[in-house]
Amino acid sequence: MPKYGPADSKISPRFSGVRTYARLPHVIDLQDVDVAVVGIPFDTGGTYRVGARFGPEHIRSASALMRPYHSGSNVAVFEHLSVVDYGDLPVVPGYADESQRRITAGLLEVLRAGVIPIGLGGDHSIALPELRALAEVKGRVGLIQLDSHSDTSEAYFGMPHTHGTPFHHAVKEGLIDPSHSIQVGLRGPVYSERDYEIPREMGMEVVTAVEAHELGMAAVADRIAARVADSKVFFSFDIDFIDPAFAPATGTPEIGGFTTWEAQSLLRRLAGINYVGFDVVEVIPEYDVAENTSFVAANIVYEFLALLARNRRDGAVRG
Ligand code: MN
Ligand code: MN
Repeated sequence: MPKYGPADSKISPRFSGVRTYARLPHVIDLQDVDVAVVGIPFDTGGTYRVGARFGPEHIRSASALMRPYHSGSNVAVFEHLSVVDYGDLPVVPGYADESQRRITAGLLEVLRAGVIPIGLGGDHSIALPELRALAEVKGRVGLIQLDSHSDTSEAYFGMPHTHGTPFHHAVKEGLIDPSHSIQVGLRGPVYSERDYEIPREMGMEVVTAVEAHELGMAAVADRIAARVADSKVFFSFDIDFIDPAFAPATGTPEIGGFTTWEAQSLLRRLAGINYVGFDVVEVIPEYDVAENTSFVAANIVYEFLALLARNRRDGAVRG
């Protein structure tokens, strides 16, 4: 049996105890750990709303409702994976460069222990320091990015590090392999007719929200799997991929998005991929009047865990 798993909610009620993801133990010794949920509460990369620094704690609170068996994928998640809540990485509010250094350093410790991190943002600027750590330990990775924005601007306000720029720099720094990278869900008012050409000219595949809605989730999953093929993959889930009807509390919401069921349906078709890291970003609890955005994010993390558990159980990972 894996060393670490959640508290049994038939013995202690799920509203009790110190809040960690899914009632997992808070552990920083990475011996016998397969997956670590890691808070990354940096949010001053936000160009509009801020407050995602409180994302990790609210996602953890909402995750008290996670139960150990994933009924949608028929897998007993914690029988196949030893999972802990690693706590939060250090950040310096207002200081992007120094926060990036500390996030990368913190994540390097997790990765060098052979542990797969699932980051809880924070705004999307945290993807760049995450990818720096991943590239250092794993080499260049493929990217699956579900997002209503491409986040491939070179700069905002003349500055390089915001939540609108991480993937520009990740490509430029050689952290991700664009030929095995795909962005899905792009939509909303943009700056010009050329906006979606920017990630394409960087070498990434783009499936806009319009295309994804017309294709359906099964076909989108096929496009993703074909694109990343047998590469090592970082999966970055911007909560604004989900329609604001379901996940309103985010930095830059866009209508015309995806239902929670569509997201689950898509994710459950993405087993067998060689994942090396994940994150869920852009949850801003202050706008989360019914706590539904945090609840969606907690469930997305659970979908990630189910994918990893299926990969471990089935031993069918490409690459
Ligand atoms: Mn984003
Ligand atoms: Mn976005």
